[in-house]
Amino acid sequence: MPSSPRRPFFCGNWKLNGTIAESLALATDVRNGVATLRSADVVVAPSFTALHAVAQRLEDGPVAVAAQNCHFEDKGAFTGEVSAPQLADAGCKYVILGHSERRQLFGEVDAAVNLKAKAALRAGLAPIICVGETLAERDAGETLGRVQAQVDAALAGISNPELAKCLIAYEPVWAIGTGRTATPGQAQEVHAFIRARVAAKDAGVAASLRILYGGSMKPDNVRALMAEADVDGGLVGGASLQADSFVRMVKEGS
Ligand code: PEP
Repeated sequence: MPSSPRRPFFCGNWKLNGTIAESLALATDVRNGVATLRSADVVVAPSFTALHAVAQRLEDGPVAVAAQNCHFEDKGAFTGEVSAPQLADAGCKYVILGHSERRQLFGEVDAAVNLKAKAALRAGLAPIICVGETLAERDAGETLGRVQAQVDAALAGISNPELAKCLIAYEPVWAIGTGRTATPGQAQEVHAFIRARVAAKDAGVAASLRILYGGSMKPDNVRALMAEADVDGGLVGGASLQADSFVRMVKEGS
């Protein structure tokens, strides 16, 4: 059982996987698998090309749709980009921002994550803001400093009412896609630190802020992670690509 007083939240990040047909099949299986579950928010994040079809398939059901990125301008001469209003128009309710793959592989910096979060909020989307340290930073004892810098930069200039619509995902880079999970204690330490950081802005918002863990979360480790007081759910990559493992994980963690 989760020990957090907040409603569990699980988002499957499908990354660069799936045709429209494959995404529809996976989304349908997830929806059917959680049909009777009332105790968690469940979200899937397909690739851009499948967003609209999946959102239509899931309309009026228990599973919501997230995008994996957005541009920070609403429109204009930005070839190849997709804006937050376009994502809302396609049926998204959430958008994942600042994922470590975007930071590491596509040069995304903290200031861009901040602008994207503001663009998402303007469009009525809830940002899922990802933060987390590399293995080198952890080994150097820089974990909390790195996470603090990322959280502060991502939330700069965001009002407290808007902050109440955000989620934060703590994703240690060394645990993403590696099969290596943070221990529940390691996750709890950083989650509590993030909540305290947000509490310095607004204690009420911090108390209800959902902080997700991400990094090789699976059906067999979700319970231990969710038993921590400040772990409110998961951002899940690999284990979300099979409906049965994702649904099992959501049920184990709710
Ligand atoms: C992720 O991509 O956000 C993630 C946590 O991936 P995985 O679950 O595969 O480690």
